[in-house]
Amino acid sequence: DRNPEPQAEPDPSKKTLVILGTGWGSVSLLKRLDTENYNVIVISPRNYFLFTPLLPSCTTGTIEHRSIMEPIRTILRSKKASVKFYEAEASAVDPDRKVVRIFDTSEVKGDMIETEVPYDMLVVGVGAENATFGIPGVREHSCFLKEIGDAQRIRKRIMDCVETAAFKDQSPEEVERLMHMVVVGGGPTGVEFAGELQDFFEEDIKKLVPEISDRFKVTLIEALPNVLPSFSKQLIEYTESTFKEEKINIHTKTVVKKVTDKTVEAEVTRADGTKEKVTFPYGLLVWATGNAVRPVVKDLMDRIPAQKNSRRGLAVNEYLVVQGARDIWAVGDCAVAGYAPTAQVASQEGNFLARLFNNMARTEALESKVRELSSTLNLQPGNTAEISREIEEYERQLRRIKDVKPFHYSHQGSLAYIGSEKAVADVTWFNGNVAAAGGLTYLFWRSAYISMCFSTRNRLLVINDWVKSKVFGRDLSRE
Ligand code: FAD
Ligand code: NAD
Repeated sequence: DRNPEPQAEPDPSKKTLVILGTGWGSVSLLKRLDTENYNVIVISPRNYFLFTPLLPSCTTGTIEHRSIMEPIRTILRSKKASVKFYEAEASAVDPDRKVVRIFDTSEVKGDMIETEVPYDMLVVGVGAENATFGIPGVREHSCFLKEIGDAQRIRKRIMDCVETAAFKDQSPEEVERLMHMVVVGGGPTGVEFAGELQDFFEEDIKKLVPEISDRFKVTLIEALPNVLPSFSKQLIEYTESTFKEEKINIHTKTVVKKVTDKTVEAEVTRADGTKEKVTFPYGLLVWATGNAVRPVVKDLMDRIPAQKNSRRGLAVNEYLVVQGARDIWAVGDCAVAGYAPTAQVASQEGNFLARLFNNMARTEALESKVRELSSTLNLQPGNTAEISREIEEYERQLRRIKDVKPFHYSHQGSLAYIGSEKAVADVTWFNGNVAAAGGLTYLFWRSAYISMCFSTRNRLLVINDWVKSKVFGRDLSRE
């Protein structure tokens, strides 16, 4: 069912549906959308979909980054009708003129760098950016863990720290600093990364660079009293005790206040309530303190009076319509619908919009046929029986199209890898909650993520990477 005319001109009889982003929300929508009903335009600075759950594994080379990327053009090629893709970033949305301002973010520039795209319907699925809370030094000195480029930067930096620590006559204090890997944020991103890092050290670095191995240290800093606040109590305890065995140092009730090129400065609250300043020298610093609103979303919120009180993103109603706007919907991390910012939520929201839009198009097409036939009926009074039968048939079809019920999120559970081939899982089983942890849960984690991978190609590549790193070890080359 491949589209034979990939770059067909827009059909003036159809509405133009513009979709911003190629992440979990937008791609789930695209997957199920009947593209024959609209002139569909996708705009994103990233010309691929990224399977974020396995991104922490890319930081150490357990999984190669291309194994979890799926080119958007491959996804679009399998659609029935042509979809246009522009690799660009949306800088502003004008809801009054119904246009999106976009600019080319690539290194290669043509004549046209910035332009406008008009829309009849708009879906905002641009995700979120990294929260830094304005803490000095974070942007300049730390690595984030959101995009492929971040994972590549971390992988290179780990090896840079190891090789520099192994440099001839390096002072013991400097070796200690360089081999200290600090992670800020004890949410699932920080925990999974710390686990992957410790595995890398235990399974590969220790064997290949033994002379400095006793100095390698992973520290996880969290502002709240425990890590993984969204998981159940027993899984939090399991994670914390596993980290203790793995020799990952957890510093809870510790709030980072400042970052320099070599140190993290934090304030720790002691058991008696007193506060104390602590400094952590580091070689690698990974910042994983959650999400912040993207500028394009903030700008749109400022243009819509009904969004005045929304802080964490575009407030949407139960049909994911942006409150106070016409013909704009939002999905995923940039939308505030009352759910956690997860891939699970974003993909269900995308699926919901696909159903809604497919339904809207079918309803509109049938209604316009009924209107057309009704006017023919008035003009040709002689041929009424046949036309009336046709109208009845279309009306019957219209009645059969069920109204799409409001969006309802169905939570399937939460999973996180914690290192040493162990995982934690809070899953929903027959309407009840089951908490599981350990080696078997790790196998479940692996099979669940393999089945969730975007394509068979991704699945095979990920399995191949797992086997490769187990048999031959991870690749320690720096580039
Ligand atoms: P994203 O997937 O982030 O996609 C946003 C898209 O918008 C991207 O294509 C981006 O390039 C594009 N974009 C950005 N700015 C613009 C712009 N100005 N104009 C146009 N396009 C733009 N969730 C889970 O449920 N399970 C997990 O195991 C899990 N693991 C995770 C691991 C990591 C390391 C991270 C960082 C997140 C993880 N998450 C997980 C959370 C999950 O990835 C997000 O909730 C999900 O990606 C949100 O989907 P989204 O479509 O809103 O945004
Ligand atoms: P998060 O918001 O879940 O956690 C960030 C943590 O950073 C919080 O616990 C917060 O207390 C801490 N923090 C904030 N400021 C701090 C400071 N100055 N000093 C010390 N600690 C500080 O962020 P995340 O882990 O990036 O996750 C983002 C979203 O993605 C969440 O919804 C999460 O559920 C989802 N996610 C899920 C998985 C999974 O299911 N396996 C993996 C990664 C991310």
